[in-house]
Amino acid sequence: MAHRITLIPGDGIGPEVAEAARRVVEATGVEIDWDVQEAGAAVMDREGSPLPDRVLASIRHSRTALKGPITTPVGSGFRSANVALRQELDLFAAVRPAMSLPGVRTRYEGVDVVVIRENTEDLYAGIEFERGSEALRRFREELRALAGFEIPDDAGVTVKPISVSGTQRIVRFAFDFARRNGRRTVTVGHKANIMRFSDGVFLFTAGAEAQFYADIWFEEVQVDELALRLASNPEELDVLLLPNLYGDILSDVCAGLVGGLGLVPGANLGWEYAVFEPVHGSAPDIAGKGLANPVAIVLSAAMMLAHLGETDAARAVRSGVTEVLATPDMRTRDLGGTASTEEVAAAIAQAVRHVISSR
Ligand code: NAD
Repeated sequence: MAHRITLIPGDGIGPEVAEAARRVVEATGVEIDWDVQEAGAAVMDREGSPLPDRVLASIRHSRTALKGPITTPVGSGFRSANVALRQELDLFAAVRPAMSLPGVRTRYEGVDVVVIRENTEDLYAGIEFERGSEALRRFREELRALAGFEIPDDAGVTVKPISVSGTQRIVRFAFDFARRNGRRTVTVGHKANIMRFSDGVFLFTAGAEAQFYADIWFEEVQVDELALRLASNPEELDVLLLPNLYGDILSDVCAGLVGGLGLVPGANLGWEYAVFEPVHGSAPDIAGKGLANPVAIVLSAAMMLAHLGETDAARAVRSGVTEVLATPDMRTRDLGGTASTEEVAAAIAQAVRHVISSR
């Protein structure tokens, strides 16, 4: 039976790379019934929301989606459709593997790090008070009355909630992931010395849960030191367990270690639904030019195939990517090449067909 998958092309480079991923998945021969759902900035203009209910309904039905990036306006306008999607579907765990790939020249060798990012809490919870608003005036008064805190009247405020229950599930997820994937160490990044009551909850809950996983080494590191370690000896790190904001930032750092955002895939997972998407954004600077590297979303599609139980197809896609990256004239501009998104996608699809037929 065909797998039903919601395909969200997104905007910016999204449609170009999503089409590339679809082409590669089709080359595996796995039968997919794609339900294409538009979302993003243009949809906002037409339908009044960048993430209309029909998109969520489609994912609730198919349970699995492959998604291109969606633009978020900076500092004003609508709230991030990406964050809303993760919260609406309770996709509490982001998994972002960053691995040195053969043929891609970088400053480091042997990097094999997986960022496990908590996806629903922290400063991304959406609890915000706009500078000068009536709500913020009342909030400031409450804080003053409650604890004597003074917030300057020209400030804007974002609140950072981190709960024991929200942390427990991501910690268990990270350790189970480590076990299932033969990983040895989970390193939790935090700033609990400064944010004692939010990062403190994350750190202490992680420590308490870690006791149930005696077979996995657990270490805790302040996130600034973790940034230093990533820049100095990334090959010594294994699974990084991070609250939402640090996870977002360090995912991009990890992408930089292995050759850039064009290469790093991702999965957003919850108890019921799974949405696979690259770490990168909509890259407006190169959108519509055929310059985007499709590898990140193609590898996200490989994660999706593995999630669907199509392990041979997932493996074939990874081998296809490895083979094409080793071909110097089949690289996009971000990797120093001149090939277009479409050419790279066609080459990967061809390599995948070859792997499948030679089995
Ligand atoms: P970005 O990831 O879009 O781009 C950063 C840099 O990396 C740019 O120079 C871009 O050209 C390059 N890049 C990104 N993907 C690439 C690819 N596949 N191939 C080659 N080069 C690539 O980050 P940004 O510019 O900060 O964000 C642009 C928009 O995307 C923003 O609106 C942001 O909110 C949004 N965004 C969306 C998601 C998502 O949909 N999950 C994630 C991150 C950012």
